[in-house]
Amino acid sequence: MAKNLIVGAGFSGAVLANKIVTELNEEVLIIDVKPHVGGNCYDYWDKNGICVHKYGTHIFHTNLKNVWDYVSQFTKWYPYRHHVKGYIDGQEVPIPFNINSIHKIFPKSIADKLEQKLIEKFGFNVKVPILKLRGSGDKDLEFLADYVYDKVFLHYTLKQWGMKPEDLDPAVTGRVPVYISKDDRYFQDTYQGIPMEGYTKLIEKMLAHPKIQVKLNTNFQEIKDKVKYDRIFYTGPIDEFFNYELGELPYRSLEFDFVEFNKPYFQSNSVINYPNNYTFTRIGEYKYFLDNQSDKTVVSFEYPQAFKRGKNDRYYPIVKQENLALYNRYLEKAKQTPNVYFLGRLGDYKYYDMDKAVARALELFESIKK
Ligand code: FAD
Ligand code: UDP
Repeated sequence: MAKNLIVGAGFSGAVLANKIVTELNEEVLIIDVKPHVGGNCYDYWDKNGICVHKYGTHIFHTNLKNVWDYVSQFTKWYPYRHHVKGYIDGQEVPIPFNINSIHKIFPKSIADKLEQKLIEKFGFNVKVPILKLRGSGDKDLEFLADYVYDKVFLHYTLKQWGMKPEDLDPAVTGRVPVYISKDDRYFQDTYQGIPMEGYTKLIEKMLAHPKIQVKLNTNFQEIKDKVKYDRIFYTGPIDEFFNYELGELPYRSLEFDFVEFNKPYFQSNSVINYPNNYTFTRIGEYKYFLDNQSDKTVVSFEYPQAFKRGKNDRYYPIVKQENLALYNRYLEKAKQTPNVYFLGRLGDYKYYDMDKAVARALELFESIKK
């Protein structure tokens, strides 16, 4: 009998498995319903030598030194710095919307005035969530806020979530605040990069240990009555674990349409957002991440969808009050379930980036180690 069963071989499960074998010297069985490890961070090298992220563009970024140091044991990093452009009124402008975006869109006299007013009101190098920029009281800044709300956030958010920005937790659109700065990077974190050999290799290295057994194509639901373990670490959906007893937690899903083009580059940047045009939200072009050289290129168009059980995958918890209330009721049940620990984007029902998923797994490990 292995001591530990880990459900899910994404970042959360892999970190925990690695810590348990290296620090506790206990056996781990890690299962995943998918045919590969890596969860949503899974990537592969295609026939043109391009590293493709199967579930959408993934950029590792963090301010957490312990997370960066830990993950760096398993990879070297390509020092990629992420930029996103938004296609707005026929222009490709920096997203997060910043002072450079203002100057690309508005005539100089108006742009100068808006820049000056923004700095006077909020300061320089300051991030202002769109929902806060609205309601500043100043007529010109109201004009700017309405413009950015309408052209950057409203229609993108309607596509992505099926609701308006104000109907979600403010933290969701707050991930991409208006930035009173000329810094065009998407993230300002201290550490940022792409694993030189890809995310899958990184996760495989975490799992490469004689005490770790990996079983793919294995659904916990189908084996749960047959196996016995001292402890279960569950990175799948918490509502599924409890057979949806209290109701289903809502998620958003995506459909990725991958297209190969017979030319070196398709677009000017790794990611271009389309808030107002088309039904997709963004196009990712994969060769930019590791600067892969090829005469061909591959891109993915991202089409948001409602999550439907059995039809598509859960990609995003929908962060709003009523859903968190339901999650909290599941959390109460979880606390009364001995020797089962929940973590990860689905287990915690939290909009974790990779670094936060790693941090959570490291913290959970410290708490069970005692
Ligand atoms: P997951 O990767 O979802 O892993 C959970 C695993 O559990 C899955 O492999 C699943 O198959 C398995 N599982 C579920 N149920 C069962 C079951 N019943 N039996 C067996 N196995 C099961 N983060 C960033 O930091 N930067 C980015 O640029 C970024 N871009 C993203 C883009 C998109 C489109 C998405 C959807 C996410 C992005 N993320 C990004 C977030 C990142 O994907 C997550 O932080 C990370 O995948 C979380 O890892 P996890 O292990 O918690 O969850
Ligand atoms: N967002 C938007 N327009 C954009 C970029 C982001 O409205 O051009 C909003 C949208 O609601 C999105 C959220 O901000 O879901 C968070 O964006 P992020 O890029 O962090 O999303 P992710 O990469 O996690 O899908």
